[in-house]
Amino acid sequence: LMIDYKNLSSLFMDNGYKLTNQRHAVLNVIAENKSLHLSVEDIFQALNNKNPEIGLATVYRTIQLLEKLRLVNSINLDDGFIRYQFADPEERHQHHHLICEKCGNLADVQEDLLEELERQMMIKMKFKVRNHSLKLYGLCEKCMNNS
Ligand SMILES: [Zn+2]
Ligand SMILES: [Zn+2]
Ligand SMILES: [Zn+2]
Repeated sequence: LMIDYKNLSSLFMDNGYKLTNQRHAVLNVIAENKSLHLSVEDIFQALNNKNPEIGLATVYRTIQLLEKLRLVNSINLDDGFIRYQFADPEERHQHHHLICEKCGNLADVQEDLLEELERQMMIKMKFKVRNHSLKLYGLCEKCMNNS
């Protein structure tokens, strides 16, 4: 895990929560699968071997809490599932997503590239951008070459 246990536990405490073993286990699954976008069901399945006592409802509630604490980002691909991904505290803002409209491939873009927009919003709108959620729809390389 990228955040150490002590920092994590004070983050929870500062917000009025306790870092329970169950919450830690849920966060670990998400952090260990940093490159994946997991549904609640995926996370529940991954936990099931080591922590069979954690029910689906607990996983669901824990993810809501982790999202509130900005440890997890959610992405809605409009296919009936919300997917979750670890929000690296090293990353200032959420990364962008490229979604292929033909094959459904989902790719992460790690560079922010919105610094100029964020700067302009501050100057022109007196608005401080704290985060953003950007989905770009189009064709992946494979689908572009096969069309
Ligand atoms: Zn940004
Ligand atoms: Zn594609
Ligand atoms: Zn992502």
